[in-house]
Amino acid sequence: MVERRSIATLLQLPPSEDRLFGPNPSVSLNATYYEGQRSAYGRHTNPTWEAFEALIGELEGGTAVAFGSGAAATFALLLALGPRALVVADSYMGTRQLARWLGARIPGIELVEPSDLDAHLDRLAPGSVVLIETPSNPLLVTYPIATLAKRIHERGGLLAVDSTLATPVLQRPLTLGADVVVHSASKFLSGHSDVLGGVLVASDEDLVARVGEVRELTGAIIGPVEAYLCFRGLRTLAVRVERASATATTLAMRLRDRLGDTVRYPGFDSELVGPGRQQSAGGALVALELESAQQADAMLDGLSLFHHATSLGGVESLAERRGRYPGEDRIGEGLVRLSVGLEDVEDLWGDLDRALTRAGL
Ligand SMILES: *Cc1c(COP(=O)(O)O)cnc(C)c1O
Repeated sequence: MVERRSIATLLQLPPSEDRLFGPNPSVSLNATYYEGQRSAYGRHTNPTWEAFEALIGELEGGTAVAFGSGAAATFALLLALGPRALVVADSYMGTRQLARWLGARIPGIELVEPSDLDAHLDRLAPGSVVLIETPSNPLLVTYPIATLAKRIHERGGLLAVDSTLATPVLQRPLTLGADVVVHSASKFLSGHSDVLGGVLVASDEDLVARVGEVRELTGAIIGPVEAYLCFRGLRTLAVRVERASATATTLAMRLRDRLGDTVRYPGFDSELVGPGRQQSAGGALVALELESAQQADAMLDGLSLFHHATSLGGVESLAERRGRYPGEDRIGEGLVRLSVGLEDVEDLWGDLDRALTRAGL
């Protein structure tokens, strides 16, 4: 676990290419480069992506490859590091849909229930990649990275961790034994709900080259402006995540006092979450397993600071009934996911308190 202070400081360093010029990388809008430069064409690389990649790579402890979205990064991971890949089904809906879609075309890409993971790991084929998400979206379950990495390595496999919900401020999977980290940069990394992006980080250069090849061949690239926004978002990542996580911890505890076990929060997992553990704090997401869609909708209608919208990890607080999507097939209809932003904690609590009262909760 990197010291808080060192992450916050690291985030403010100018990219090495631009150190003499100013604190920020330039937005390089070039489809082609003059002969003799280190890139020939805009699908191969771009100096603005490289600034984002250098910073997120340093945070995670590996080499980063940026993509046009988290989904594009996951696609590259499953294709490049497969063709044998197990995707744990307790994951982002789009990741499950992608795994099913790819699995129907490429035998060997499989979606597995977490309850069956043990049995699958016992007979894992060498060279397989296993993708987990911790904490998972939207159930917020935490999975033990170091234990899983050890078991998977014993069978000659690779562990990939979608760490979107934790961010490198709270959790650094490569230091715990994972081989690859994947992020939707559309969430906390950029942090302002204004851009789509994704990134993969690995310390093994061969893995990095394999995923980079998929990006170049498929053109799943991030635009230079988007890469700049991701880079700029990283400047404030530490303060945003620390504040949002502290606020969410307070809200989750008050919600649990009121609603009991219907409240899910990674911070309640004292084995894996806490100072010095796998994940240093609970993070900014809280889930409420309300009884029905009607009850959840009544609560959402009563909110005014939390906006009813999808996505997460922005500066503004959002609430969403995830069960409204037919593809969200592993959760109850009444599950509400809260993404806590940077508003004042008492204002947010007041909003939740009024909405719960209105919904008769
Ligand atoms: C949003 C999300 C993704 C997909 O990322 P996009 O940038 O929307 O393509 C993947 N994993 C998790 C955990 C997510 O929350």
